[in-house]
Amino acid sequence: MAVILDGKELSKKIRGKLKEEVKELKEKVGRPPALAVVLVGNDVASEIYVRNKIKACGEVGIRSIEKRLPADISQEELNRVVKELNEDDTVDGIIVQLPLPEHLSCRKVINYISPEKDVDGFHPVNAGKCLLGLYDEGLMPCTPAGVMKFFEEYGIELQGKNAVMVGHSNIVGKPLANMLLNANATVSVCHIYTEDLAHYTRNADILCVATGVPYLIKADMVKEGAVVIDIGISRVNGKIVGDVDFERVKEKASAITPVPGGVGPMTITMLLFNTVKAFKMRMGY
Ligand code: NAD
Repeated sequence: MAVILDGKELSKKIRGKLKEEVKELKEKVGRPPALAVVLVGNDVASEIYVRNKIKACGEVGIRSIEKRLPADISQEELNRVVKELNEDDTVDGIIVQLPLPEHLSCRKVINYISPEKDVDGFHPVNAGKCLLGLYDEGLMPCTPAGVMKFFEEYGIELQGKNAVMVGHSNIVGKPLANMLLNANATVSVCHIYTEDLAHYTRNADILCVATGVPYLIKADMVKEGAVVIDIGISRVNGKIVGDVDFERVKEKASAITPVPGGVGPMTITMLLFNTVKAFKMRMGY
């Protein structure tokens, strides 16, 4: 029976520390760190994500600024809003909630955010620092950074281990594969075009999955004693589920993240962490 890697507990611990740090920084600087959240249109899921992020900011004392923009805004206007936030000295972090309406390019707007305020860690400058392992010098993407915190907190050794990343998105799969590689794991990256996925997953000591395909990973695809990190979030019959058949895989794995309550809370925690980090870097601490 696997150890359950508890994202809620770990988040609570990290957020508690951040709250104290924010209090101290506010006394020193005269204002708390501030995060600007840009929301375009009224996608229901995005509204919920934004609400949760703003609530989490409030809980640790980070000031949040919500910028709600109409769904038919042009790329130029959206970029102009981001430019204003870049130039606003009282704003430390900027995120643009994705997905954007189809006529807008998320790459164009992400490239427009100042790298030092890019608390999602999606800007090419931060992606480059992630690739090079220069974590202290930039802002790392929240979900992969949150996963690495699990390994740290639970003392899970990565060096020399076979790690398999299923999913190769720019926001999760690629940066997480890269972080595993920087930690000296032997990394395979699988995706929709991978032939015989099970061949790879069965050899994984560390198995990370971010596909959005509910229950893609079955027990017979998992090595006995593996550490399984489920990043996927899907809704099946009104229930939130991951990419892993949790009930069966937990009998075989040595450690596993649940969905919900695993990686999800850690993603928001790392957004708070990045906002405090951006503030400190900007203030020269
Ligand atoms: P994405 O949706 O951009 O891409 C999906 C990836 O999965 C691609 O690399 C694709 O090739 C791969 N894939 C799809 N079907 C596959 C299959 N049958 N076999 C092997 N690979 C397959 O990826 P994303 O944006 O990283 O999101 C993935 C999942 O993670 C989604 O469910 C998303 O909601 C979730 N997510 C969760 C968090 C969190 O905080 N827990 C954060 C980001 C994303």
